[in-house]
Amino acid sequence: MVVSLDLSDREKRATLSAAASQPMDENKAQLIGLTREEMRLALIEIGVPEKQAKMRTSQIWHWLYVRGVSDFAAMANISKVLRAQLDEGFSIGRPEIVEEQISKDGTRKWLMRFPPRGAGNPVEVETVYIPEENRGTLCISSQVGCTLTCTFCHTGTQRMVRNLTSEEILAQLLVAKDHLGDFPDRDTPQGAISPDRPRLVSNIVMMGMGEPLYNFENVKSALLIASDPEGISLSKRRITLSTSGVVPGIFRTGDEIGVALAISLHAVNDELRDELVPINKKYPLKELLDACRNYPGVNNARRITFEYVMLKGVNDSLKDAKELAQLLKGIPAKINLIPFNPWPGSVHECSDWDQIEKFADFINACGYASPIRRPRGEDIMAACGQLKSESEKMRARERLALAAMVSGHGEE
Ligand code: SAH
Ligand code: SF4
Repeated sequence: MVVSLDLSDREKRATLSAAASQPMDENKAQLIGLTREEMRLALIEIGVPEKQAKMRTSQIWHWLYVRGVSDFAAMANISKVLRAQLDEGFSIGRPEIVEEQISKDGTRKWLMRFPPRGAGNPVEVETVYIPEENRGTLCISSQVGCTLTCTFCHTGTQRMVRNLTSEEILAQLLVAKDHLGDFPDRDTPQGAISPDRPRLVSNIVMMGMGEPLYNFENVKSALLIASDPEGISLSKRRITLSTSGVVPGIFRTGDEIGVALAISLHAVNDELRDELVPINKKYPLKELLDACRNYPGVNNARRITFEYVMLKGVNDSLKDAKELAQLLKGIPAKINLIPFNPWPGSVHECSDWDQIEKFADFINACGYASPIRRPRGEDIMAACGQLKSESEKMRARERLALAAMVSGHGEE
């Protein structure tokens, strides 16, 4: 279902061109999501002469990531014969859009269905676009479901189905760009990037469904492609990876991907964090904060974001605020306060607005930037922590067990 509101001409054209995109073909190999070298080797495998493979890779890269085409037939500078050969071997199509919802505040959410990879069923994933005055942020999922069970998170109630491939992670970005008309150069003869047209997707956050550091290699490939200067070319400073605290993946994120880091902190002592963010039992606060201190490239201009969900009567006292400021001493940090977004069956309540402001003021006075994240897209369940697909619903028995666990303060 496509909800059509009052769309601009550009959006209408985009909707038409998105509708004309080719579907993903599960029986063919993927090209999207491969590194340049992997793509070169894949081309050689289907018979492209070795001497040409590098040049063909550059051409295809441009069509895929600058022009955003989903059909080899559109690749005008490649011979018909080779196009047919490519089409036989590879799919560069888009996932099915099961639903597109547009919030009254302009936030959009797409439910995408990816065909099975090998054995297994198709999976569904949610991706959210949040337009703001000076930027547009796309919130991308890394897994279907999550192995972790943070008590305040809707995704945490969905059992883990599988990791997304690098193709599926990137496809979320390509679909959003298709639907927003953010491949403005698709139809120009030279495919030149027009500086006068601002990008609609200017930022990416890996804050959708799943824990990105439990799918490191695929997330890495996708983000390196999204930031490749000859393709989508998003600045790494405008890409943020959020983790619940998978310590071994933190250094690698800075070292091998080089994007900005966000930590889902949510509690200032191990006792409470063990309960709210159970991975804390494996990687307690001290280890987590040491990893942050050693994050490659961190400095006052490139600070780490600490996300802190405001839960009424749980973590929102001024004592918590004081301990938070002390805990982060010495780490170039900003603190993002997230009003808790409820979901059906959630056990927490959002802190009172007045308390959130007092908390923010206190932290601010300690010298930390502490913006309060305005909830977006609540009417379409697109806000932080509300994402969940139906790919595999939790069984009633598991839901009851989880509810018991939560009310029993997180004992496993
Ligand atoms: N798994 C990663 C990334 C996805 S969650 C992580 O945990 O960091 C993205 C952010 O939304 C995290 O900071 C998470 O703690 C927060 N979040 C989850 N559920 C929420 C809810 N119901 N209300 C507000 N924020 C929530
Ligand atoms: Fe998983 Fe992040 Fe949700 Fe925790 S907050 S359950 S890590 S998606």
